[in-house]
Amino acid sequence: MSALEIGQLLYEGKAKRVFSSADPELVLVEFKDDATAFNALKKAQLAGKGTLNCCISALLFERLEAAGLPTHYRGLFSPNWMVVRPVRIVPIEVVIRNVAAGSLCKQMPIAAGTPLDPPLLDLYYKDDAFGDPLLTEARLMILGLVSADQQAEIEVLARRVNQVLLAFFAAVGLRLVDFKIELGFTSTGALVVADEISPDTCRLWDVHVEDSQERILDKDRFRQDLGGVVEAYGEVLKRVQGACPQARVYQ
Ligand code: UDP
Repeated sequence: MSALEIGQLLYEGKAKRVFSSADPELVLVEFKDDATAFNALKKAQLAGKGTLNCCISALLFERLEAAGLPTHYRGLFSPNWMVVRPVRIVPIEVVIRNVAAGSLCKQMPIAAGTPLDPPLLDLYYKDDAFGDPLLTEARLMILGLVSADQQAEIEVLARRVNQVLLAFFAAVGLRLVDFKIELGFTSTGALVVADEISPDTCRLWDVHVEDSQERILDKDRFRQDLGGVVEAYGEVLKRVQGACPQARVYQ
């Protein structure tokens, strides 16, 4: 186990808490068992979810790192705690869709399951009070959240993340339908992938299962009351570990 000490609570979100450490270049993230959906209108405690999401995220961040993509991840602290670099989070949620699902099919006449090639990239304004609205180019410009160059950098990085994750998940029998990532700037101004990458933030379908509900191995099981949420997340971890067994512990 690492010698880092947990400092003060810096931020508490719906699924994670962020704490300082004695090293200003490191913060600690605790993954909670809280599950929320529909802007926290639906809530539950799912024992074991925090550990599963932390371990899955750690392995996926290591995968991105191995592919040369920058992330905030430094290593595991314990099974549900991660050591990361502190970043200034860009208040934009980047969603990449390889297959139509979720909000896209509620807002557009596109049938669920329709392949999207090239993948669709949607930007949302990260603000719960406004319900994370979809951004247009013009709205993004008015808000002045990022420069045009930074936006381009964010989009290029997000698409590269998609390429790496798509191939990785396909190799373990999972279809990456869509996912959300958050990005941040480090103290030196580098853009890195931050937050988490887990079944809370990705839609993942088991390629070996035909049934449109049975194949779901992500948070849609919670959103749609399908049951077996933790079991599904456990299956995702098992598949991911088939390719890369153990995440590194930060030392
Ligand atoms: N997503 C997320 N956090 C959000 C919104 C979406 O992690 O606040 C993920 C979601 O799990 C899915 C993808 O982003 O993998 C696309 O979500 P969508 O826009 O379809 O919204 P939803 O159907 O979740 O309302």
